[in-house]
Amino acid sequence: MTTSSRERILSGRTALVTGAASGIGAAIVRRLASDGASVLAVDRDEAGVKALAEDLPAVRPVPCDLSDLDAVDELPAEVDVLVNNAGLQHVSPVQEFDPERFSLILRVMLEAPFRLARRTLPHMYDRGWGRVINISSAHGLRASPFKAAYVSAKHGLEGLSKVIALEGGPRGVTSNCINPAYVRTPLVEKQIADQARAHGISEDTVVEEIMLTPVAVKRLIEPDEVAELAAVLYGPASSSITGTSLAVDGGWTAR
Ligand code: NAD
Repeated sequence: MTTSSRERILSGRTALVTGAASGIGAAIVRRLASDGASVLAVDRDEAGVKALAEDLPAVRPVPCDLSDLDAVDELPAEVDVLVNNAGLQHVSPVQEFDPERFSLILRVMLEAPFRLARRTLPHMYDRGWGRVINISSAHGLRASPFKAAYVSAKHGLEGLSKVIALEGGPRGVTSNCINPAYVRTPLVEKQIADQARAHGISEDTVVEEIMLTPVAVKRLIEPDEVAELAAVLYGPASSSITGTSLAVDGGWTAR
């Protein structure tokens, strides 16, 4: 498809992306803007979303802390493409897991997506078209030790996505999850540095011997690869893709 024909795909449409300042969210914002959407770039990192919007005229920075659900309920409701992407990780055995941290992760990664869907679906239903794209994880489909809150939140997001798919299907709205393995973003770079320090090994060893062990494709994924799959989910062949979870996981879930 040529650039000019792709540009028309989302013209007249508004997208809202959470966690837009960094990593996968920023890559999806760029992709949505290049496909003609007006994009609301939501993040608690105000400087980050402002910097992202500087050279992208179609992007409006919307600073918001998604752990504040009252603030989430004030976000714009006239949205055609909702991308629930914001996330954070915390690593600890269950018996030592800080309950406040568990609650925060569930709020940002499951309750905020619910609030945003609840808020934006009426507009999508009025227009008879909408796309909900949930950035889940291989950890939406598989568990790992020490990631109780993250794995619980992602498994919850999988359920929410399927319910939205069933309710929205007759009204032109699809809902899907994207399930990446490790993507080269600040979230993962921090984990690599932390694990290297904790185990007293090099960062390369962390990537090769810890992160790439479950995958068949032995490299980190790039954020643009996830954005490319998101583009399929709002693109011209997307109307019957719903209620599903699309792995970009280098073969992790083939096990
Ligand atoms: P990242 O850390 O680069 O970006 C996450 C963004 O979310 C940041 O800009 C951060 O400010 C924002 N954010 C966090 N808490 C917030 C809050 N309370 N309110 C508003 N914004 C908040 O991370 P990433 O790797 O790009 O991750 C994006 C999504 O992809 C997450 O849901 C993550 O779970 C998922 N994911 C990432 C990987 C990976 O390997 N990087 C793999 C699978 C799934």
